[in-house]
Amino acid sequence: MALYAEAAAVLAGVESRQGSIKSLVYASRFQRVKQLYALVCETQRYAAVLDAVIERAGLLRAEKKLRPHLAQVLVYELLLGRGFRGAGGGRWKQVLSRHQARLKAELARLKVQRGVSRNEDLLDAGSKPGGAAQVPRFVRVNTLKTCCEDAVDYFKRQGFTYQGRASCLEDLRTLQGKRFLLDPLLPELLVFPAHTDLHDHPLYQAGHLILQDKASCLPAMLLAPPPGAQVIDACAAPGNKTSHLAALMKNQGRIFAFDLDAKRLASMATLLARAGVSCCELAERDFLAVSAADPRYQQVQYILLDPSCSGSGMPSRQLEEPGAGAPSKERLQALAGFQLRALDHALTFPSLRRLIYSTCSLCQEENEDVVQEALQRCGGAFRLAPAMPTWPHRGLSIFPGAEHCLRASPDTTLTGGFFVAIFERVEVPSLVSPEQVESSEPSPATKRKKRRRVAAAPEVLPADS
Ligand code: SAM
Repeated sequence: MALYAEAAAVLAGVESRQGSIKSLVYASRFQRVKQLYALVCETQRYAAVLDAVIERAGLLRAEKKLRPHLAQVLVYELLLGRGFRGAGGGRWKQVLSRHQARLKAELARLKVQRGVSRNEDLLDAGSKPGGAAQVPRFVRVNTLKTCCEDAVDYFKRQGFTYQGRASCLEDLRTLQGKRFLLDPLLPELLVFPAHTDLHDHPLYQAGHLILQDKASCLPAMLLAPPPGAQVIDACAAPGNKTSHLAALMKNQGRIFAFDLDAKRLASMATLLARAGVSCCELAERDFLAVSAADPRYQQVQYILLDPSCSGSGMPSRQLEEPGAGAPSKERLQALAGFQLRALDHALTFPSLRRLIYSTCSLCQEENEDVVQEALQRCGGAFRLAPAMPTWPHRGLSIFPGAEHCLRASPDTTLTGGFFVAIFERVEVPSLVSPEQVESSEPSPATKRKKRRRVAAAPEVLPADS
């Protein structure tokens, strides 16, 4: 594949959390690895600026076949890089040259608006060394293969200093050098200073450790399926959350994991094998086409729905100013449409008790708006449960109860940007005990009234009931 197409594929892989830039570059078949790595890193560094220029120039609206990541790479090369090189890029280079004047003008306008003269000065604070909030390196201990004590001992033997369980976020913010600790909230999460690279670490290679951002550990933890449960992971690849679910279930029960993308499912199969997951059935399927009436899913009580999203919460896409570099309206609309269809569909599974809806987006359209609409459409059958009430960053209060959702961001929680909502089926508790029935049987009309009152009660189930 040509340089630019490869770079776009790596960026897409990083955005959908298939792996790090380094691992995806090495996994590609592209021979000039250094060249590809440098191009991807630089494009990612300028992602917010590039998105802003692309949006203002209307490039994706004019060139409907041009995918967003390829557009970023090509516009980077055109405006900020060395100009187009080699045979790569093909017809897209020609296409870009048609928009060159407009793109250059929009870049110049951005600089004027932000009062800077150099391209470098357009970079957001978080991309500069020593800039804004740095997200620590979080490492989930895979309890299917080891335990926290053994992992901690291993690192200590390697010269790391263990500082015990952190008591607050400040402990994480000040972590430096070869020190590490346990996260204050999540039980099996080790925390190292930002930029600690553990990709070549033997415990990671052996599947004892999973390199996973803290916010991305929340969905499985909050779904909390017990061992023996039947679970659907609706949009599962590349599978970090699936492996977390399997660990919580101690490999007992069944996870039905679906994804549309064959390539991502192949990486997922490798990831799950390495993590020792044996309770998962992988299927290359459109979740929207998985029938809730299928006898195989009649016992499913837990669903994790982590659908494709804009990825606007990923640190590399933090926005410099509100609105700049945000995904286009059209893209958000399309994503939110799919997210809502998937959520509506998931809520039709007959035995479902609890569902987690999560995205790595900061956009209200993909988060609170989707949740609000799904709650309205399900006609009171489900309600939101409070997700970790002590978590500091809550959902935007655009409807009553939205604060039950949680948000995450580098500044507020020292994690990537994230959103989680917990849906729980509203139960109609039995109104009377059998003994009471015997002593005073109410009329059917009274029973109906009582049932309606209970169903409408605003009480919210605790997250981990
Ligand atoms: N939960 C995954 C994890 O933790 O590793 C990440 C999921 S990623 C955010 C979204 C996934 O949804 C992508 O792998 C994409 O291929 C998949 N997807 C998109 N549309 C889908 C559909 N209609 N049915 C099933 N999977 C879909």
